[in-house]
Amino acid sequence: MDELTAEHRDDLAKKLAARKQVMRDEISAGLAGLHGETIEDILAGTTDAGDISSANQLSEVSNAEVARDTAELRDIVAAQARISAGTYGICIDCDVPVPYARLDAYPTAKRCIPCQEIREQKLGSAPHR
Ligand SMILES: [Zn+2]
Repeated sequence: MDELTAEHRDDLAKKLAARKQVMRDEISAGLAGLHGETIEDILAGTTDAGDISSANQLSEVSNAEVARDTAELRDIVAAQARISAGTYGICIDCDVPVPYARLDAYPTAKRCIPCQEIREQKLGSAPHR
């Protein structure tokens, strides 16, 4: 019904690939000034599961801009993995299709808008527990 068409999915896959290249270039440029970490080091622990493990690894990256780009690159890699697995465009929390308009704006979106809002409320109201 609201599931992605093949055309939409291909379109989003292209966007992700283009964005990934930009992030790789920016991270490579940023890492040139840091302590010997490479993109491969940073991506080594990337899994679809983990906002938390990502955050831990990111703490080793001192440059804030590189950290931001790295977080986006991880999201892109995870989104591409979901495309491969056939689960792209499905909310990871409630299993409903994420609307194309949202994916078009945020191709790495893992959740539908209601689930994302719930998550942000939880994160905002429960610090350090
Ligand atoms: Zn949802």
